[in-house]
Amino acid sequence: MEITYLGHAGIRLATGNSRVVIDPFISPNAHAEAAGLTLSRLEVDDLLLTHGHEDHVADAPELAARPGVHVIANYEVAMWMQGKGAHTVLPMNHGGVLQRPYGKVRMVNAVHSSTLPDGTPGGNPAGYIIEAEGLRVYHAGDTALTMDMELIGRYWTPDLACLPVGDVFTMGPEDALAAAQMLDCDRVLALHYDTFPPIALDHDRKLRAQAAFAEIGKELIFLQIGEQITA
Ligand SMILES: [Zn+2]
Repeated sequence: MEITYLGHAGIRLATGNSRVVIDPFISPNAHAEAAGLTLSRLEVDDLLLTHGHEDHVADAPELAARPGVHVIANYEVAMWMQGKGAHTVLPMNHGGVLQRPYGKVRMVNAVHSSTLPDGTPGGNPAGYIIEAEGLRVYHAGDTALTMDMELIGRYWTPDLACLPVGDVFTMGPEDALAAAQMLDCDRVLALHYDTFPPIALDHDRKLRAQAAFAEIGKELIFLQIGEQITA
């Protein structure tokens, strides 16, 4: 499975036959534009949204209007997307698992908020565990460090955890280390940092966090926008 960093909290998972995009934030993100990403060239089969905030759903209506794209989100966000012209929505809620052509999508808790850009209530924020090709990838959404991660580590141990590390609106890189321990996961992909001034991480703090991960045999990965890793 190939994972591409789309900037901010956005990633794309490519399996043999499917492209799963989570929380794309490309057209409003100057960093993504500078990296050469464009929404029109982004291929997507399933579009997963973790919560209703602008920096997670801004590009969703345009992608969701394409025939063949399935939007997966909590019920409230899914209905909002339907109202915005989404072709097909698959609403779900926390604790549920959807069977997809490439595997399974489980919705898990996140500690955050979820109001949509126009003020519509966006239900409760979520994370996802995507199971495909014998691997599990956890995208935490926007969240604080939470004991739910212990539950995920116990029952659905991820091979790769994609965690917010920008602090202020989510946990920071120090808490991400505790999350990795609770998740029993050795590889963490950093998300939700540097996009806006309040969540900019200085270089030294990134290096210190990476060193702390390395000290316990784990890896904290910062990718360039558009860069890929293999899970
Ligand atoms: Zn948010």
